[in-house]
Amino acid sequence: MTNLFVEDDSLQSIRNKLSNQYQVECIIFIEEIENSPSSFLYKKLIPLYQPAYHAQQRFVFFNFAPIQKTTLDHIVATLHYIDISPYFILVVTNQESTVSYFKSLPEPISVILSSEKSHLQKNITEIKPLFNTDKKMCAHAWTGLHVNPDGTTRLCCEYRDLIKDPQGTPYNIKTTDILGILDSEHIKQVRHQFRQGATPPGCNNCLKIESTGGTSKKSLTPFKLENIYGNIDWESDSIDSLGWIGGHLGNLCNLKCRICSETYSSSIAAEKIKFSLYKNKKQDPVYKFFANTWSDYSSIFYSNLKQIVPPIKNFEFLGGEPLLVLENIKFMQHLIDSGISKDCIFEFVTNGTQYPEIFDHADKFKRLTITVSIDNLGKRFELERSGVPWNIVENNLEKLINRKNSCTSMKIGVSITVNIQNVYYLPELIAWLTSKGVSHYYYNFLSTPSWLSLNSLTSNAKIIVLDKLLSAELPQQDQTMLATVIQQVQQSATSNGQKFCAEMKKLDSIRSQTFNLTHKEIAEAMGYML
Ligand code: SF4
Repeated sequence: MTNLFVEDDSLQSIRNKLSNQYQVECIIFIEEIENSPSSFLYKKLIPLYQPAYHAQQRFVFFNFAPIQKTTLDHIVATLHYIDISPYFILVVTNQESTVSYFKSLPEPISVILSSEKSHLQKNITEIKPLFNTDKKMCAHAWTGLHVNPDGTTRLCCEYRDLIKDPQGTPYNIKTTDILGILDSEHIKQVRHQFRQGATPPGCNNCLKIESTGGTSKKSLTPFKLENIYGNIDWESDSIDSLGWIGGHLGNLCNLKCRICSETYSSSIAAEKIKFSLYKNKKQDPVYKFFANTWSDYSSIFYSNLKQIVPPIKNFEFLGGEPLLVLENIKFMQHLIDSGISKDCIFEFVTNGTQYPEIFDHADKFKRLTITVSIDNLGKRFELERSGVPWNIVENNLEKLINRKNSCTSMKIGVSITVNIQNVYYLPELIAWLTSKGVSHYYYNFLSTPSWLSLNSLTSNAKIIVLDKLLSAELPQQDQTMLATVIQQVQQSATSNGQKFCAEMKKLDSIRSQTFNLTHKEIAEAMGYML
């Protein structure tokens, strides 16, 4: 059944009066919003969005029947999300409750109380929209999936579970196409849990981050998934909300970061195989990572992906080092050549050692975000993310900043993985980023390997870290962000530091590095020199 609204003469006369006074952009019945898919209002308004409006332009909402407050909240949230000022909104209603709602907003909306008793006829579908005004439901559960280096899938890179079939076997892109996985019972069950107000077990990490005032991956979705977020029908399991693909696309990487593992770095895998105790190194379980099996999956992945763009138009490619993967660059070129890129948001999370020429075509994309993983500076960076001299990363960051300054669709961010090695030195890193003009950075907190996580700080290390961070003198915004780190340190458990020291010494020995030379203060406090 389709929605059918038949206006009577009284509504037509209001419409005529408004047209004499205003330039009416659209008239939307609030009753219709309450009985349509949750994306209805966004889809109506977004084609009418302009960066600026004339003083006489108005978006008009009619309401002549009792309406739920959640629907009114949804209208306000959608206007805010699209960035249409309340000034350009006009509500015409005969409902006292609607009048008081809009008039009592922090930025009140103009309301005309009409005495008309409309004979508006409604013949509507049974759709009961579910609005996500409190942002408790996560867009990743509706929009796409994240592919792991071995072809298994998750809802996003933070999701602590694999997407599995009803028998409990993880799906793999080698045997099930992306649309098939997206239509799985597993994902439907996750959505169901979100709709019930629960946090799916795989999403506990986001919940934990949010509970300490941090910025979770979920809370970033309205921005990161900006080109698809408003199209989500939260009440539906239809794949029409599909629009995002992310992935750790292989483990090809030129760095051996101490916070990383063979799963995500072929260089670490190669190092582990080199020092393997197996007589036949091919029998070492690490060998499969050394072989970088992504080549087995990549052709399946990209051909599957090309079949479903559009509607997929939001991409988040991680690695390994995703800019070393030629297919990723070719895929970007494919989006440009087929004219789709102008609607696409693309994000790479990179180790900063690469600057491919295609970045010079950032203006062909709706947005191209390059997030560079930088946890420390200079020699400390070189020890923590072993493999290239610091000045290469520094120069690439400079190039990215210059590109960003000449191209509005290019965005630069820095991801800081907070762990024992760098937590003491964060104020210096933040001051340096500020001096380079990088204002967009975020912290994520390492959980594995556990011996590098904040929970393995010794009590001495905890003391010197807190002293340092609490006395840091940074601009207010940076200080606020640092407060989330301070809170994590304060709440962290402690250890005797032995595992940390043993693992660090092992790496120092095979890499001919010396942790206590570059990281003297934290090395001492962790008992490294004992
Ligand atoms: S809530 Fe967090 S972990 Fe769960 S799908 Fe969303 S972003 Fe991923």
